[in-house]
Amino acid sequence: MGGNELDYIRNAFDANWISQYGSNIDEFENSLERYFGNNSYVTALSSGTAAIHMALRLLNVEKDDFVLCQSFTFVATANPILYQKAIPVFVDSESETWNMCPDALEEAVKYCVQQGKKPKAIIAVSLYGMPFKVDEILQISKKYDIPLIEDSAEALGSRYKDQLCGTFGDLSIISFNGNKIITTSGGGILISRNIEVKNRALFLATQAKDNEVYYSHSEIGYNYRMDNIAAGIGRGQLETLEEKIQLRRKNHDFYQETLKNHESIDLFSAPNSDFFSNYWLNTIILKNDFSKEKLKDKFLQNNIETRYLWKPMHLQPLYEQYKFFGNNLCGMLFDTGLCLPSGTNLTDESRGRISEILEDEIH
Ligand SMILES: *Cc1c(COP(=O)(O)O)cnc(C)c1O
Repeated sequence: MGGNELDYIRNAFDANWISQYGSNIDEFENSLERYFGNNSYVTALSSGTAAIHMALRLLNVEKDDFVLCQSFTFVATANPILYQKAIPVFVDSESETWNMCPDALEEAVKYCVQQGKKPKAIIAVSLYGMPFKVDEILQISKKYDIPLIEDSAEALGSRYKDQLCGTFGDLSIISFNGNKIITTSGGGILISRNIEVKNRALFLATQAKDNEVYYSHSEIGYNYRMDNIAAGIGRGQLETLEEKIQLRRKNHDFYQETLKNHESIDLFSAPNSDFFSNYWLNTIILKNDFSKEKLKDKFLQNNIETRYLWKPMHLQPLYEQYKFFGNNLCGMLFDTGLCLPSGTNLTDESRGRISEILEDEIH
């Protein structure tokens, strides 16, 4: 926390709106719509996962439909496909952004079409804050007329060709879970391109109550709305976003400097100036048989936490029975990668301790 979060929460208490209605929700959505710009309609929900589920519902994804999904991601990207009893088809990453590989995606589309069913949606992820190859993925989405769901849960404030992540998908999602760049404790948003879709999302997220004087329900809905307290936290957090992006990017500069002469460690960085990452997490790839377990242990002995990369979905027990397209580049990333400390509260003293360990490992 760092701004006016408590003041906004107090507003909710003063108004006695401890509920899924209230001015914090309206103001949070309005601020986000201004932030993302023209044609962005924001629905505040209880989580990023709920937002992805909502996106699939809005696209009428149903039982036995195919949904193409980036394999290299957190499980929350894929689970809503199973909530709908649809069939995930997983797609590998390419090496420049670590996100969905356009070639593997096209192969996967062709496979589905051969099975007699065009996929209902593509879910591409901006993992660790790095935008995916937007032009290439959009081109395939348009060529085959398959809607794009943009999972930018980790990429608030990131840009591709100067345009904000969250504005590329037919439907886009952002997460405000506790681990993300800004948080509402738990929360997320669905970003759509017109007001009708937003209204439909609101309807589904609040139990799909028909427009009748009594409680009438014709289709299945959810209790997915963000509450007025969480939205108050969000309003305060949003005011600190630019500062938080600067701090995350400063961490990246630090790692770039520390690792520039390191032969066994590659820091994952933007491939060119089209890609502006919020560097939510700094990640490395270890080369020359340098083991991630050993480096992780070394950090741990010094009371510093590091984490493995997301384990790809096609390698998960839950998902290994589903089709996967690509050469398992994401499996290789998982095998050799590590996430380094990247919080906005990292001090110079902490950075010093981290660089000592990394430099120790070089020699
Ligand atoms: C965090 C995250 C989600 C889910 O968001 P929640 O708000 O935690 O439900 C989805 N996709 C990715 C890539 C994430 O990192």
